[in-house]
Amino acid sequence: MNASDVIVVGGGINGMMSVFKLIQQGFRVTLVERGQCAQEASWAGGGILIPLYPWRYRDPIARLDALAAPQWLTLANLLAETTGIDPQYTAHGIMHVRVEDADRARDWSARHDDMLVSLASSRAFEQLGPWVTPSLEPAFWLPERGSIRTPRLGQALRQWLLDHPRVTLIEHFEVTSLLTVNGRVEGVTGPRGRHLAPHVVMAGGPWTRQLLERHVLLAITPVRGQMLLFRAEKALLPSVMLMNGFYLIPRRDHHILAGSTFEDAGFDRTTTREGYARIHAMACEMLPALEKVEVTHHWAGLRPGSPDSIPFVGAVQEVEGLYINAGHGGNGVVLSPATADLLCAHVSGTPFPVDPTPYIVPCSG
Ligand SMILES: Cc1cc2nc3c(=O)[nH]c(=O)nc-3n(C[C@H](O)[C@H](O)[C@H](O)COP(=O)(O)OP(=O)(O)OC[C@H]3O[C@@H](n4cnc5c(N)ncnc54)[C@H](O)[C@@H]3O)c2cc1C
Repeated sequence: MNASDVIVVGGGINGMMSVFKLIQQGFRVTLVERGQCAQEASWAGGGILIPLYPWRYRDPIARLDALAAPQWLTLANLLAETTGIDPQYTAHGIMHVRVEDADRARDWSARHDDMLVSLASSRAFEQLGPWVTPSLEPAFWLPERGSIRTPRLGQALRQWLLDHPRVTLIEHFEVTSLLTVNGRVEGVTGPRGRHLAPHVVMAGGPWTRQLLERHVLLAITPVRGQMLLFRAEKALLPSVMLMNGFYLIPRRDHHILAGSTFEDAGFDRTTTREGYARIHAMACEMLPALEKVEVTHHWAGLRPGSPDSIPFVGAVQEVEGLYINAGHGGNGVVLSPATADLLCAHVSGTPFPVDPTPYIVPCSG
């Protein structure tokens, strides 16, 4: 008899969120992670809880965002209360300034409940005033959105899973291949042994393509992103701020994260002087007070890039019982509750929370 109904491969945010949701459906789940959970992009990411420049994505991203957004407050509170690790969900609002494609943004907003408010006309303007000068227009304000502290979210989810009686969490177990019999998955195997279950979910972030290349061809590639941490000692910025594709994220301890680059560097996650210089210059242009603030950390992570950043969520036709939840690009934190809901519906056969078509895993033939 199998100890678990489902094996999830990959302990990033999307693997852990998949387990979290599968558990709510009554499944027994084994999570296998080759290192420690939430150490890759799911540690490195900024944690902004809206797809950046949402009007630049196709509608399937907006649909996942709409499913995920109402879940964040409850989810963060539940994790904080049950694990004692507060992921610091903060709805401090998001400013997009000097927006080059303002007309497109307004059109998009009109189709999405007027989500974007002109910053100058918003009630928050008085509070934000010092940060919003005419040179930052056109500028848009998303009042109800914000950010989460990604490493803490990862730690809290990991702890929640460790504490749950129906979860078996196995770290330092690298999966090297799937076990299949007559076109049906039976489990996973690696140098440290094997684990059996009738369903396997691959959530290996940018490594998912390599993990599955014997079974299906997936257009998932690593996209390196570098980040800086400014150790500000007092509040310098009231909300997330984006300009020219770069962003600043204030944390509750007043430190400010600045990001990010989008680089094709394969699986190399080293940092570069050029990356540092670009992020530093843009951060200081957005918020000149940062020129006097020390940078204490510089790191890089690998986004799981996919065409149009639309994740692959669903069953692999070629192998019965095999599923994927991967390829979230730069939106893998914000969309994670939604893609985990969709994945669960595929595994359990319950109604889909959104039309599953745009995310379907392609057939390799
Ligand atoms: C600099 C940067 C900034 C970002 N900012 C944001 C943001 O503001 N908002 C947002 O929503 N998203 C952001 N992202 C994107 C987000 O971080 C990623 O989309 C998300 O973390 C991907 O999660 P994942 O679980 O799919 O993959 P990962 O976090 O990469 O996790 C995959 C896991 O699978 C494991 N694994 C791989 N192969 C195997 C194997 N063979 N056996 C066992 N385990 C295996 C890995 O060790 C890893 O732990 C950012 C990313 C970066 C790099």
